[in-house]
Amino acid sequence: MSKSAAARSRDLIADALVWDAHAGVFPDPEIDLTLLNAWRDHGADHLSLNVGFDIMDRDRTMATLAAYRAWVLAHGERFVLAGTLDDIADAKRHGKLAVAFDIEGMNALGGDIAMVERYHALGVRQMLFAYNLNNAAAGGCHDADMGLSDFGRAIVREMNRTGMIVDCSHAGYRTTMDIMAESAKPVVFSHSNPIALCDRQRNIRDEQIEACARTGGVVGINGMGIFLGDNDIGTRTIVRHIRHVCDLVGTGHVGFGFDYSPATGVDLGAILASRPDYWPAGQRYDTPDIKHAGPAHLPDIVEGLLQRGFGDNEIRGILGENFRRVAAAAWAVKA
Ligand SMILES: [Zn+2]
Repeated sequence: MSKSAAARSRDLIADALVWDAHAGVFPDPEIDLTLLNAWRDHGADHLSLNVGFDIMDRDRTMATLAAYRAWVLAHGERFVLAGTLDDIADAKRHGKLAVAFDIEGMNALGGDIAMVERYHALGVRQMLFAYNLNNAAAGGCHDADMGLSDFGRAIVREMNRTGMIVDCSHAGYRTTMDIMAESAKPVVFSHSNPIALCDRQRNIRDEQIEACARTGGVVGINGMGIFLGDNDIGTRTIVRHIRHVCDLVGTGHVGFGFDYSPATGVDLGAILASRPDYWPAGQRYDTPDIKHAGPAHLPDIVEGLLQRGFGDNEIRGILGENFRRVAAAAWAVKA
């Protein structure tokens, strides 16, 4: 008798490399990272954890990065600081969660391009350019899109050189097209959904998805209810977003960037309301009790994909092999 879809889903998640390309934990040096168990306990093998975004300055980002590094290093029985694909394979073998870091926006550089290499040396493996609003490097998705500046172009080249994944999420349309034209390596949208299914400025057009795939990149499906639909985190909705990307560019260019956070004690609603410039009206940030799909939803999502006829290898790609392929290209640098 053949296995049920639920059993096949469980087995696939246990066996496959599971990669979450972006967490939505509010970056704060005081946060207790015991919350990372939410990924480990649900079968994730690798997580890119955000240590800063444009509202924070360079000092605050560095303080958060230092605190998170120290926490992960002090909890080596369950977690590993991952700088390479070998680190991630090792962590999986030992049932640990591999953690690398990302930064949402170039304000973290403090205007100094040398910070790219410094962050890389401290475990940052992915950076996006502008967090919703314009900065010195790039245009944000909730701003008058200025495109990529000369500083931004130099940053793309420096990220290619040092071995960081170039991430287009949160940037404006024109800016993302500039970034993808500039990068010599595959580019990702780590946590952005198709605008064709959910009309938000944070989501992305089919043209952006196609350009991303042409670089060899991957779109990470975001688990936030307001970016999936009308605060809708139903499995059918998530599977519909995955299928949209697959129908456009094939199964090799989609993954997960759930943007998920367990409860941290930080009042996110208050933070969102406090900066209507970064989180403007009309974009559903004021939705009460925003729902959020995370790694706990993976068994249902994979079951949904199996029922839709996705093959095991396609699902392995979506769970993690697609992002691993990008990392293999982006992280490899000439000695
Ligand atoms: Zn984000």
